[in-house]
Amino acid sequence: MKPNLVNTPLIGVMGSRGMLSTPALVLDLDRFEANLRLMMDLARRHGMAIRPHAKTHKCVEIARRQRAAGAIGLCCAKLGEAETFVRHGMGDLLLTSPIVTAAGIQRLMSLIRTAPETMVVVDDARNVMDLAAAAAASGVRLRVLVDLDVGLNRTGVASVEEGVTLARLAYKAASLDFRGIQGYAGHAMHIVGREARHAELARAAELTWRLQRALTAAGLAPAIITGGGTGSADADTAAGVLTELQVGSYIFMDREYQDVWQEAGERPPFDCALFLQTTVISASRPGQCTTDAGCKAFATDAGAPRIVAGAPPGARYDFFGDEQGRVTFARTEDRLPPGAVLTCMTPHCDPTVNLHDVLHVVQGDRLVDIWPLEARGCGQ
Ligand code: PLP
Ligand code: MN
Repeated sequence: MKPNLVNTPLIGVMGSRGMLSTPALVLDLDRFEANLRLMMDLARRHGMAIRPHAKTHKCVEIARRQRAAGAIGLCCAKLGEAETFVRHGMGDLLLTSPIVTAAGIQRLMSLIRTAPETMVVVDDARNVMDLAAAAAASGVRLRVLVDLDVGLNRTGVASVEEGVTLARLAYKAASLDFRGIQGYAGHAMHIVGREARHAELARAAELTWRLQRALTAAGLAPAIITGGGTGSADADTAAGVLTELQVGSYIFMDREYQDVWQEAGERPPFDCALFLQTTVISASRPGQCTTDAGCKAFATDAGAPRIVAGAPPGARYDFFGDEQGRVTFARTEDRLPPGAVLTCMTPHCDPTVNLHDVLHVVQGDRLVDIWPLEARGCGQ
């Protein structure tokens, strides 16, 4: 028995999706595998590597499958995620957010004793000096990438010139190994309309390319240029600036991402593979019913879930408190009895996954496995 599953009421009833205790996070295995292959093929065709972002799935089994499909490593947003994956034998990690606190830097030093190839991004001279001092004191050599702000305005140096200055600083520190650039265009991922999205992504790629040229001219040619997400994969592979893609959501997809293509009348490049299964618990009022999945089951930052199965056409889902959801019917004669099971597309996959302990893996209606989400909640 998998240790995380001791309290799962599923033990003993494996086999049927209809028997799941809800709210249950469900993964369609065939669609997941298809998404995995599709992204890998896209990258390979363009001579690019994939280092998928594990903040999306928080799941060791998924990380293993990504590696088995050809991924060169994993990205983590937080030290806690990285520590968890290393504990489970995963390596070649990139921390895509700066580690700046004294406690964080000490944890990073411990981590690289086990996984010396771990990389971290930097965007601040003081932080580079702190990392260099800690690495020297620990007798290790820390790999760093200069984070360039390509328009998200979240992290990253604000200009190409600052990027060169910071890279030079890292290069000069004997305890640091300057490896390259991160340029993540998160602001452009959900722009509706291919033309508008690609125009913004072209601006980001141009900026990243300018830093690549400037570093090369300064004798600091970057070995790694990382960035990209699910919404930019086609543009990134066509632009050819990045050496590796840090895509996350492509394995699962969510309503927010599906909308990007659907609102433009285009077919989403990846199928939705992640769903939340919920049960009607009350049907005492006409025109609506109440389910067992509220904002403790779905992340609420991206609007409402989309019902994809189990409800009459036109039924809408909204949050109805911590523990409940409300389904509002399109027609007054519509009704769903208590016990009816609905399947929903999650509004935003990553923060939704973080609310759950396990993924229920299905093929059709058959429950074929349960995968623990080992790094869920590891947000520090
Ligand atoms: N890289 C970074 C730094 C991110 O923050 C994210 C997601 O927010 C990703 C990559 C993955 O993006 P996506 O889930 O759109 O594929
Ligand atoms: Mn996301």
